[in-house]
Amino acid sequence: MAQAFRSNRVLLPQPQPATLIVDDGIITRIVAHDAVPPEIEVVDFGDHALLPGLVDVHTHINQPGRTEWEGFETATRAAAAGGFVTIVDMPLNCLPETTSVEALEQKRIAAKGLAYIDWLPWGGLVGPGDDSTSNLDDLEPLVDAGAAGFKCFLIYPGCEGLTHLSLAQLRRAAPTLARLGKPLLVHAELEGPILEASKALYAEHADWSKYATYLASRPDQAELTAIRALIELVREFRFRLHIVHLATAQAVPMLAAAKAEGLPITVETCPHYLCISAEEIADGATQYKCAPPIRSKANQEGLWEALRDGVIDLIATDHSPCPPEMKPAGPFDKAWGGIASLSTAFPVIWNEAHKRGFGLQDLARWFSTEPAKLCGLSATHGELTAGRPANFTVFAPESIWTVTEHRLHYRHPISPYLGRTLKGEVIATYLRGEPVFAANEFSFVARGRDLSA
Ligand SMILES: [Zn+2]
Repeated sequence: MAQAFRSNRVLLPQPQPATLIVDDGIITRIVAHDAVPPEIEVVDFGDHALLPGLVDVHTHINQPGRTEWEGFETATRAAAAGGFVTIVDMPLNCLPETTSVEALEQKRIAAKGLAYIDWLPWGGLVGPGDDSTSNLDDLEPLVDAGAAGFKCFLIYPGCEGLTHLSLAQLRRAAPTLARLGKPLLVHAELEGPILEASKALYAEHADWSKYATYLASRPDQAELTAIRALIELVREFRFRLHIVHLATAQAVPMLAAAKAEGLPITVETCPHYLCISAEEIADGATQYKCAPPIRSKANQEGLWEALRDGVIDLIATDHSPCPPEMKPAGPFDKAWGGIASLSTAFPVIWNEAHKRGFGLQDLARWFSTEPAKLCGLSATHGELTAGRPANFTVFAPESIWTVTEHRLHYRHPISPYLGRTLKGEVIATYLRGEPVFAANEFSFVARGRDLSA
């Protein structure tokens, strides 16, 4: 039976009055605000905006293997509350890591029936070369099995498993990546500058409970040297490169030049780099620890400019939770690096973006259109168009609310945003024309599917 969803602000892609006619979970037509045939039941969202459903390309679900950190049920529940209709799961922090089809199958079994929203997997790339840890031969089978692309690290990833690559090893993988045509997502920090800085800080007995010490241990240079080397590799081999969680604005000029040259490079940054600065992080406040680190206020403005100029294509959460005992207040070198933000990311960004003159159409691009392109979903996600699944996010741009533990919805209620009062609230999230989240009574319905299966 057909249904109609009406609002004064439907993102098409500019906000305008319109009505989506939905039949069997698919948008069949988009009509003028009042042009709904009388036999169709209308849900009227008034002034709430209707955005194309949000897509997060950087979520660490951690199940199977570390479900006590986060799991499909809790991560996708938080994502639904955050306005997301689809998340793409990172291949690490779960056990086994998603580096083979067998591991992917274990993940699918673990996820069965748990997901509130849709998901699909990234595969992992580890140490190709002569060593036995290489999974270069697994990449094509992983693509055939539905992996949207691959993630790799150029530095120790924080826990064992997804062994990081040297640049020489990545070079050996580059022709295969180019042939497969899927994006390679790279954690772009080289360990040289970090080892050197950390060694000096330990030698001078620096106080690791100070945020300034942690920040000094992961200098901009680690990102800059990695990104420079990656651009050269892309120029030579023409594989699709995606820089995850860009934290240093100093890399923006070389990324802009590389993109202007036509190299197939995309860039993401995260809410914490855009909405928190080093200056406001208290000593011992490890809920702010992530890698690369949150940098200065001046750097933050540089990232906003890069979003404005299109050098940064999209915003992803890098939702990376852990149990509270792994993030004790105190020394930053002892705490897990990762920030969980699926439920808060979109409003946190809107809160800052609208002050800078950005509109909802910009957020729809950063959180839906561009992420959908990256993970291969642009035929079905990223814009509200007839013929596509009725996946949409209902957002109240003027609504004021405060981030409390019961609004986080993921497993461990740790957040650097606790206590923040935000303008802009996710009111509901619809998947294939059905609500998966409604804010009025915090009701959730699990309707998620594995989009890669
Ligand atoms: Zn991550």
